[in-house]
Amino acid sequence: NLTERLQGVFKNLRGKRKVTENDVLEITKEIRVALLEADVALPVVKKFIRNIRDRAIGTEVSEALNPAQQVISIVNEELTAILGGGEAELLKSPKIPTIIMMVGLQGAGKTTFAGKLAKKLKEEQNARPLMIAADVYRPAAIDQLKTLGEQLDIPVYDEGTAESPVNIVKNGLAKAREERKDYVLIDTAGRLEIDDKLMDELRQIKALAEPTEILLVVDAMTGQVAAQVAKTFDEQLDITGVIITKLDGDTRGGAALSIREITGKPIKFTGTGEKLTDLEVFYPDRMSSRILGMGDMLTLIEKAQSQFDEEQSAKLAEKMAENRFDYSDFIEQLDQVQSMGPLDEIMKMIPGMSEIPGAANVKVDEKEIARQKAIVLSMTPAERRLEVELNPARRRRLAAGSGNSYVDVNKFIKRFNQSKEMMQGMMSGDMNAMMAGMAK
Ligand code: GDP
Ligand code: MG
Repeated sequence: NLTERLQGVFKNLRGKRKVTENDVLEITKEIRVALLEADVALPVVKKFIRNIRDRAIGTEVSEALNPAQQVISIVNEELTAILGGGEAELLKSPKIPTIIMMVGLQGAGKTTFAGKLAKKLKEEQNARPLMIAADVYRPAAIDQLKTLGEQLDIPVYDEGTAESPVNIVKNGLAKAREERKDYVLIDTAGRLEIDDKLMDELRQIKALAEPTEILLVVDAMTGQVAAQVAKTFDEQLDITGVIITKLDGDTRGGAALSIREITGKPIKFTGTGEKLTDLEVFYPDRMSSRILGMGDMLTLIEKAQSQFDEEQSAKLAEKMAENRFDYSDFIEQLDQVQSMGPLDEIMKMIPGMSEIPGAANVKVDEKEIARQKAIVLSMTPAERRLEVELNPARRRRLAAGSGNSYVDVNKFIKRFNQSKEMMQGMMSGDMNAMMAGMAK
């Protein structure tokens, strides 16, 4: 996984103020492997990495981030941009019915998607769709669509397997117009591989139906093949969008990146299971994180970026450097970290956390933090500035003043000293070290 692989790189980069060409090379090498492992096509990876290098080299490092994080942030932005930036809407025809044609290889999930989409349109737009069964090569395919129609209480037009798909579509459309349906979903046949006969048939259906959307349905599990399939279908049919199914599997979804890069067509929805409710709008930023395998690390980075006061960080860094970090700074730092949100939530965003057994149950003890604050607030200014030794008498006074036991105060002081190390890690930009420290 990318995060693991980057850990070594992270270590070497700690404390740097500027991203050098070498740093970028090192990081992008790892990202390249991650993308290839996620099944992104090689030419796409190459082009992508080139862009990243151009953009990242010479970038000034923000106070809150280390160079590796900075580069990853750029990687995420670029990935998200390639994947389409924002979500892509389903097109609607100015006059009814809006005709949507599903195309793709056999088993990709066309029929299932037709059912999911019909359900969504019915429920969200109160639409009245008609589905047309134009896959005449397998009787089971027609039954499958009819069963979905019954489940959803949405009509399905079929003429069995005797008529040609083109004629079925023609008759089905006539019926939809007559009944003033607002959507028509055409479920077409697929093949195990692309062949001319299939493409011919699909082109004829397209010419007749003049669909507003031609949605290519591809199976994410087929990885690199999916990109090639998308290229051919787009060349032959000029598709309007892509649906990526079976993202509920353990695939990283790199196909999404290749498909988007190769066809330039928007990805509109993803299928995340066999059930009719397992349909999701495609969000480029989420897919980007998924492809990189980084959990919510980027969210964490963004939070750090927006929340950390750069001036304050610089001041604290200076104090750290001169070993002047004291109890007042500790409180200030704690407040800053807490302003990022509930610590439990922050913990969950740390890459790899979810993979550590039992880590999901780690509870950050907010009470404990309140206790620490109370102890510091009981200190005199001189004590906070570390100008006097916290001897047993003073510790007893702090215990009484803050409503804690003597043992608690001792523990806290010990932790404070550990925290100084932890802060040192953070000042050099290592978020992981800081978060790991917080969890202790
Ligand atoms: P078609 O040949 O393109 O019409 O494909 P189908 O719609 O018949 O789907 C083929 C198989 O994939 C069926 O067993 C579906 O239940 C399954 N399937 C479709 N979409 C998804 C999905 O998003 N996730 C999973 N796990 N299975 C899916
Ligand atoms: Mg089918």
